[in-house]
Amino acid sequence: MKTTLAIRPEFPDFDIYRALSWIKNEADWVSLRFVQKHTHQRTVRNQRPEINSVTFDRGVMVEAMVDGQLAYAGTSDLSEQGLRMAARRATYLARVSAPFKTVHFSEKLRPKARGCFISQRHEGLDTQSLGEFTDQLVAASRHLKVSDKIVNTSAEATLMETWLHYVSTNGADIDERFLLVSNNFAVTAQDGNESQRRSMNGPVARCRQAGLEFFDFEVLLVDCERVGRQALELLAADNCPDETLDLVLAPDQMLLQIHESIGHPLELDRILGDERNYAGWSFVKPEDFGRLQYGSNLMNATFDPTVVGEFASYAFDDCGHPATREYLIKDGVLLRGLGSLESQSRLGLPGVANFRSAGWNRAPIDRIANINLEPGTSSLANMLASVERGVYMESNISWSIDDYRNKFQFGCEYARLIENGKFTKVLKNPNYRGVTVPFWNSLTGVGHRETFEVLGSRYCGKGEPNQMIHVGHASPPCLFTKVEVFGGGK
Ligand SMILES: [Zn+2]
Repeated sequence: MKTTLAIRPEFPDFDIYRALSWIKNEADWVSLRFVQKHTHQRTVRNQRPEINSVTFDRGVMVEAMVDGQLAYAGTSDLSEQGLRMAARRATYLARVSAPFKTVHFSEKLRPKARGCFISQRHEGLDTQSLGEFTDQLVAASRHLKVSDKIVNTSAEATLMETWLHYVSTNGADIDERFLLVSNNFAVTAQDGNESQRRSMNGPVARCRQAGLEFFDFEVLLVDCERVGRQALELLAADNCPDETLDLVLAPDQMLLQIHESIGHPLELDRILGDERNYAGWSFVKPEDFGRLQYGSNLMNATFDPTVVGEFASYAFDDCGHPATREYLIKDGVLLRGLGSLESQSRLGLPGVANFRSAGWNRAPIDRIANINLEPGTSSLANMLASVERGVYMESNISWSIDDYRNKFQFGCEYARLIENGKFTKVLKNPNYRGVTVPFWNSLTGVGHRETFEVLGSRYCGKGEPNQMIHVGHASPPCLFTKVEVFGGGK
């Protein structure tokens, strides 16, 4: 019998209803959120397997409500004694903080939701052995090395199985199971003092809810050779010019643009100031919703947990709020923020089902999930044809944005000059800068449905203590006019 990638420890059964019966009378209202994760990390560097690890993580978050105040306590001790201790700790914290509460919460913020969600996968982790899978990563590493000037190659895969089961004393029962997969193929090329990095879609963007079919190595190996060749092109390329001109961003850079300048500024807890101490504030004010012309009328941004296979699709958030597709920005006008039922009740503004936690030992907060820029009507060729002089950029490599999510400066791995409607030479070290609202108002071209790419990231950080969570972003390529671009590392 071969050992497959589906290796996992034999956990003792956990009866969540029995656990709820032990603690249900501790507070006015109680919930249990059980989270179990298996994370596989497989890395091949320079054709040699470097990391072959699996981590297992399992525990429960107890939430208790006393006198309209909520509090949490997590535990990995799933015995009756462990659960009772966690419930008492949560209840104690809720009770002692209740006299100082700023908002009186009720069970309405914890809907009686029932349902299940299983993320799409066609080939499970039990369809390949570790040896077979690693051999393919070694082959990818070999295909990346197209020249002796490629001094480093890396082929990485992460496979994460997550099971989440949430029940509450007011009747919620949500069972969600995810298989989250991501890969990264990258090279460093060097010639004398010049060194350039190139990867497939940037270091973190290739993320999906899928099975092993996501690793289609016939296609990936061809793409690995392209990545290697483009790194060599960059070694010989001119610097991106310092100039104000038209800018076309590929979907794998739109991901970062959407994340930083739509996602984070629209988080309602950030607008409330909760995150000011650590992650920052937002230039968006409560009165901007329904009024602010955030972008041009081609700009349509959605919170969309319903896209099959996108990295942060789900049926319910972590307080049981059913997740639905909503426009955040429609025809350029800001309509809705990224706020959970709690933030919505505090601000009196519409939000979405985005109350998410990074694991059993973290309380949910307002998070980015799937935030997408909806397709428009242009082909890439149409967009290029309208550009007399411009730059096309692919794959994020660096980012910087201020505390208010207003002024930003982003760098990409790879660029092409656009002259008289056509790609001409390759450019290295491309960067651009802008200010969020004027930048989005300069949007003059949005790619159509066939140019729409579904990507994501495992690395959105927020909260104290920190919570690293996965997000999805899908976008077509987009054209922005009169943008300040520059070369090098300024
Ligand atoms: Zn983030």
